Amino acid sequence: MRVTQAPIIQYLMEKNPHLFVRDGNCLLWQGSFPDNRPQYWDSDLKRNFRLHKLVWQQIHGSVPAGHFVHPKCGDPRCLSIAHLHLITTRERNINAHRNRRTPWKLKISKTRAVLPADVVRSIMHDDRSTSEIALEKGTNRDTVRKIKNGTAYRHITNFFVNL
Ligand SMILES: [Zn+2]
Repeated sequence: MRVTQAPIIQYLMEKNPHLFVRDGNCLLWQGSFPDNRPQYWDSDLKRNFRLHKLVWQQIHGSVPAGHFVHPKCGDPRCLSIAHLHLITTRERNINAHRNRRTPWKLKISKTRAVLPADVVRSIMHDDRSTSEIALEKGTNRDTVRKIKNGTAYRHITNFFVNL
């Protein structure tokens, strides 16, 4: 089923297609994202637009007082019309609290707190790029770099250096 698109989204998609990524039924904004809200700076009008609100206005009309436009799929970058609905200020505050533990955040931060010694050792001897290693070992590039130059996990890396 094809849902009519808001004029602002049509306009931005034509002008700058890489600002959007489709993920299933979600249309994920890749542009400016202050406070977890998609925002678009219009250089001609010299002002910012909150895209959730603007999309809602163009499709459904104005947002009633005390309400916010919210993607019910849970991804704050989503601008899919089918996923946007209105919530009250109170619901938004509850959501903001919950969002600290939402799955989409967990998906982003897969980083392990402490790497096991055998993983640190395998990173030391891994010749692939830092990003490849970080992805596979469940850590970040910075940690991989620090292990390789001996500034992180010294208790493990030094042991091998001193052998
Ligand atoms: Zn969505």
